[in-house]
Amino acid sequence: MSDTTPDQGWSELLFALPEFILSDANIDENGELVADVELPRGLQPCTRCGVIGLHPLHDWRSHTVRHLPVAGRATRLVWRKRLLTCLEGCGTFVERTASIAPSAVWSRAAARAAVAASQANIPIDTIRKEFGVGWNTVMRAVLAAAQQVAQVRPTRVGIDETVMTTGRLTTRRRQFLTALVCLDTSLVVAVTQGRDRGSAVRLLADHAPDAKVVACDLFSGFKSAADTLEDAVVVADVFHLVRLGLTALDEVRRRRQQQIHGHRGHRDDPLFRLRRVLRVGQERLGEDVIAKIFDRLRDADTDDEVAAAWVAVDLLRRMYQAPDRDTAHRRLVAFYEWAVTVDVPEVTRMATTIDTWQDEVFAFFDTRASNAPTESANVKIKSIRRAARGFRNCDNYRARILLHAGQPRSLPTTSRIRSYRFTTAA
Ligand SMILES: [Zn+2]
Repeated sequence: MSDTTPDQGWSELLFALPEFILSDANIDENGELVADVELPRGLQPCTRCGVIGLHPLHDWRSHTVRHLPVAGRATRLVWRKRLLTCLEGCGTFVERTASIAPSAVWSRAAARAAVAASQANIPIDTIRKEFGVGWNTVMRAVLAAAQQVAQVRPTRVGIDETVMTTGRLTTRRRQFLTALVCLDTSLVVAVTQGRDRGSAVRLLADHAPDAKVVACDLFSGFKSAADTLEDAVVVADVFHLVRLGLTALDEVRRRRQQQIHGHRGHRDDPLFRLRRVLRVGQERLGEDVIAKIFDRLRDADTDDEVAAAWVAVDLLRRMYQAPDRDTAHRRLVAFYEWAVTVDVPEVTRMATTIDTWQDEVFAFFDTRASNAPTESANVKIKSIRRAARGFRNCDNYRARILLHAGQPRSLPTTSRIRSYRFTTAA
């Protein structure tokens, strides 16, 4: 690029294509910017033999591509291409450049911008309208970009399932995805179709073979999959354990409601009125408030079953507040003893479940690993599904997930154009 002309500068300024010369530009009847560009006459490699030289001009060709919008205006480039005759005599070939692939419908810059939009969870359909290309064109670029997402080998992972609704409305079947999430970065490492032991085993073997900690909810398939890893500690997620307790508490309250009143909770039923405050941890309530709740529970449920379940949930929460494993062990024993003493069926069932998962429950106190990063990634996964109004193709879903939730967000930095002001304008 020795003989820089002013026109070349314009192509760089407007289209970020420094290698082109802008020869003409106009607005067409649809309000689109149409720009005629061409490459400067120069050395080109022959596409067949690779010889670089000033091959003689044979003819001209025209190649129209979509490009990034300029000042909000849809833009297309009409590239006037040279058809050259090879100096070595192997025939004719057209010029090439890195910014526009041969026979592409859009420039590489436009494809990159579309991928960035998909990364920000903008639906493919919206992107394709903005760039004036087909849905498949955008999706192909997104699939290719997803393949380039850097693979990480996490040592602490969480595993969870999420719904992928599929099929037409009349034949809707529910299908599931299992996601593997790095607990240190909250990034999705990999996803696979299905939510059984097999898919979890594959995920762990392919993407986290050196994992030391695997956090999961109370699904035995995930636990047994994690057990296939040699030295991984399986941790039962805190949130799911406490939710198990709260579910049991709700069940007791509903059962007693039916037994006492013969109908489901109504607005003025005392047990129904307590339903929300019972979900609050007792450590957050004042002593007088707790005493008042116990009084109201005693009046509402003379058998004290709801109160017993409430105490059980509190004992479970207290176990998780323990500073170390031994304290937790003592507190869990207190919980078991309470469950045996009160003998409420729902509480007994909860205690049995926790007993089955006891090792994984205590593993929390050694690792302090929870599934919170996994659930956070799951929210992102679900927001992708909602933005796209559901997926039928698992590969497309996986690509969108990896782009949006599988890599650190890179925020563009800009220079500040106003100084900071501490008074707000009236
Ligand atoms: Zn050649």
